[in-house]
Amino acid sequence: MDDRRRVDLHAHTTASDGTLSPSELVRLACTSGLAGVAVTDHDTMDGVQEALVEGTACGVEVVPGVEISLEYKGPMVGKRGAWMHLLVYHLSPDGPLGTELADMQRWRAERNVRMIRKLAELGLPMTLDEVAAVSGGGQLGRPHFAQVMLDKGYVATRQEAFDRFLAKGGPAYEEKQRLEPDDAIARARAEGAVPVLAHPYSLGLEGDALRERLARWTDLGLCGLEVEYTEHTPAFRASLAGLAGELGLLATGGSDFHGANKTDILLGSGRDHNVRVPWAALEGIRALASR
Ligand code: AMP
Ligand code: FE
Ligand code: FE
Ligand code: ZN
Repeated sequence: MDDRRRVDLHAHTTASDGTLSPSELVRLACTSGLAGVAVTDHDTMDGVQEALVEGTACGVEVVPGVEISLEYKGPMVGKRGAWMHLLVYHLSPDGPLGTELADMQRWRAERNVRMIRKLAELGLPMTLDEVAAVSGGGQLGRPHFAQVMLDKGYVATRQEAFDRFLAKGGPAYEEKQRLEPDDAIARARAEGAVPVLAHPYSLGLEGDALRERLARWTDLGLCGLEVEYTEHTPAFRASLAGLAGELGLLATGGSDFHGANKTDILLGSGRDHNVRVPWAALEGIRALASR
């Protein structure tokens, strides 16, 4: 069957560090010709409800999701230490894991105050209100701090704010609370949700090291790999697709759309239109939810 419908299974809203509200995101999905879009904010599901309502209104299937930050150490990936994010689809916000995410929000609020203090000590004063003002009303994170630093002329670009101050290990960085990978995967699956490894390149692993790690996570309940991702080379996508087939994992994908916070990334197609995710990926996720 020829099904040309496209979806995007990784997108951020003002509930975290995207610049479109959940309903604006869904409307953009609609005008971009997408049949479905997942709302996957960092460590929060606060944008999901609004998106679901808008999805019903515009006829776009909205997949409830969250992108959870995990505790992970690995080799360098470019200039930056490795990192691990887990996309979890169809998680109940009221279940144990959903409730724990809400607790993490409180932790983040305290972290933000500590970062404000560090920045003041570095001679870069700003207030939490100023950071909140650029956030669109959701959870505050480092991209919002970077925006204020740019607006105040402390740095010339948002990337400079990260490179000099905000990157992990930088002088203004504060740790955030993170879940342990094995635990997060197993718990998500045990609750009937669908855990998918986000942007696998960020683990800094390949070949047998990657295969071995993925095999272990599959045994714990991992359901899929984000194969289609802007930063993945064609060769890496091919090897991920092979691993997905071998391990019985779904091959999914998404743009990691953040609105004006990542201007080169387009919803539904990533950078330079190098991401294409078929409708079947959304259906594959839906079929595994609660099973
Ligand atoms: P936070 O949740 O406050 O820790 O912020 C995480 C977000 O900051 C990520 O989703 C990225 O968008 C951005 N980020 C983290 N590290 C870097 C970096 N080294 N360079 C650019 N952006 C980064
Ligand atoms: Fe982000
Ligand atoms: Fe991510
Ligand atoms: Zn993301």
